[in-house]
Amino acid sequence: MVDLQGQYQYIKPQVDSTIQKVIDTASFINGPAVRSFQTELETYLGVKHVIPCANGTDALQIAMMGLGLKPGDEVITADFTFAATVEVIALLQLTPVLVDVEKDTFNINPAAIRKAITPKTKAIVPVHLFGQAANMEAIMQIAKEHNLYVIEDNAQGIGSDYTFSDGTKAKTGTIGDIASTSFFPSKNLGCYGDGGAIFTNNDELAHAIRGIVNHGMYVRYHHDVVGVNSRLDSIQAAVLSAKLPLLNFYNERRKEAAIRYTERLANHPKLITPYREAACDSHVFHQYTLRVIDADRDALVKHLNAHEIPCGVYYPIPLHLQKAYADSRYNENDFQITNQLVQEVISLPMHTELEQDQIDHICSHIITFLNL
Ligand SMILES: *Cc1c(COP(=O)(O)O)cnc(C)c1O
Repeated sequence: MVDLQGQYQYIKPQVDSTIQKVIDTASFINGPAVRSFQTELETYLGVKHVIPCANGTDALQIAMMGLGLKPGDEVITADFTFAATVEVIALLQLTPVLVDVEKDTFNINPAAIRKAITPKTKAIVPVHLFGQAANMEAIMQIAKEHNLYVIEDNAQGIGSDYTFSDGTKAKTGTIGDIASTSFFPSKNLGCYGDGGAIFTNNDELAHAIRGIVNHGMYVRYHHDVVGVNSRLDSIQAAVLSAKLPLLNFYNERRKEAAIRYTERLANHPKLITPYREAACDSHVFHQYTLRVIDADRDALVKHLNAHEIPCGVYYPIPLHLQKAYADSRYNENDFQITNQLVQEVISLPMHTELEQDQIDHICSHIITFLNL
């Protein structure tokens, strides 16, 4: 699905020397490498504060802690996403409220958000799923009307440019009150281990969070709030500093691969290729995800695997049907799209090293199967 080794070959000298520098200086935690990456990412995103942390799941949890959400507060998020999003809501004893997504973008449906709002609702967590920006204009409007926080889960969307209807643009992760991202190796900006970060333009919130990630300390050995230990280590920061200048290039490579896939597959009556705007700025193709219509998706997965072509089903089970997140208040009729998507989706190999002949090879196997 990804080719991290191939990608490394092109950046080996920079990465090796930058890692060596961290080892030579032995400042493994909170060293200068972490601070410089933080500043570089702030500049890239156009956001006032980046707070690095240990992983994308922590980033989400810490964002919610920073906002001061309290047990019983309701947090609305998408039924069709990676479980980390809902996990941290539940872990903080907030009440997750899962809602349906849109069939074309796979992203949270603003009409479903409106329907789920109650007096207890405190926040909305849109996920920029598979690298495509959620409908932030509608979501920010709803949040304003109902005085809700917006926490963007940008783990899959880093580098994506959202365009508002007046033509202004903003990077995903800089639009809501706060955002989280992950530097898991296979993410669009991945390190060589675990890593994550929180973004915000709010000075006060940034200050609160810098303490929360460090055991609730604002002054050494004075613990004002209950915090956590969540750090990006210096070696990971050094790897990220070497890769950040290439992020736009990497995202372009993904787009090129996506366009090639779509050229090959768009006209097949049994497939729906991913929706994207004409300019394609709002999609960084963390995944290239097809919908298989009137054919056996699981048999296609087996067929591809039998021909040594990796593929993935993200995600096979809606979150509202997971044991951990079931809630008697849910009504199946409210999850029609997610329930349908889990049967139809298949994600193809997507990374920066994909060559056109590899894509053509994958597509010809898909078409052969569908025409059987
Ligand atoms: C990867 C991911 C996370 C979690 O990131 P980790 O660094 O693995 O903790 C959270 N949300 C989404 C949507 C993700 O894809």
